[in-house]
Amino acid sequence: ALELNDIHKTFGDVEVLKGISLKAYDGDVISILGSSGSGKSTFLRCINMLENPTKGEIIFNGEPLSLKPGETDLVAANMKQLTQMRQQIGFVFQSFNLWPHMTILENVMEGPANVLKRPKNEVKAYAEHLLNKVGIADKKDMYPSQLSGGQQQRVAIARTLAMDPQVILFDEPTSALDPELVGEVLGVMRNLADEGRTMLIVTHEMNFAREVSSEVVFLHQGLVEEKGTPTQVFENPQSERCKGFLSSTF
Ligand code: ATP
Ligand code: MG
Repeated sequence: ALELNDIHKTFGDVEVLKGISLKAYDGDVISILGSSGSGKSTFLRCINMLENPTKGEIIFNGEPLSLKPGETDLVAANMKQLTQMRQQIGFVFQSFNLWPHMTILENVMEGPANVLKRPKNEVKAYAEHLLNKVGIADKKDMYPSQLSGGQQQRVAIARTLAMDPQVILFDEPTSALDPELVGEVLGVMRNLADEGRTMLIVTHEMNFAREVSSEVVFLHQGLVEEKGTPTQVFENPQSERCKGFLSSTF
């Protein structure tokens, strides 16, 4: 389980996150909605500390990462635990971020081979299995630039799965894709949700969020403005801002 307590983030003198708390239990699929600039990406990046939160606590599997009195740098104060946590929390970006000089298969093998130091044969077989699962086994010897955006994103998901993450964070995984390619990536994500994967997903795909999520969180200016089940948030939002946001996106 992953628990975020009162996460704050300040850039310069602008407080972008003003105290966000959230709990993800195993198998939860939490969609994070909100308009541009509301702090969705910053929040996601704070979870595995690609951004260093200015205040707050992250508890992963019952173990807190936090600042003790006198400490100011959450990352420095928890380096050892953080390295472990980062291996167990996968991140899928809008822009795929595949290694351009490696083949598709090599991209998927890289983490388990070099970071986890697993035996090559085993890693290769697992990578091939994952590429098959995301429907691109036949592209394994090609390079990222030879694939469509949707295919590249499916490789990025396979690469994340190769690390056997407990939790996967997605930051607008389909926003960079041509509309006709969005469905194939959402299809893969839907399968992961059905398998019981724990996922936090920043998305503008409202139908997907409504169908797949166990919980929906709407952020506004660095705070949770509304949260609940998809039925509560989509059918009966309490906040006017959430209502307005939803009516502008459907
Ligand atoms: P979008 O839907 O456009 O991706 P978002 O909800 O993901 O938006 P964030 O990227 O988290 O929003 O940004 C929240 C606010 O924080 C914005 O006002 C942004 O300008 C600011 N911000 C983000 N990163 C930085 C940074 N490194 N330095 C300064 N300000 C930043
Ligand atoms: Mg963003």
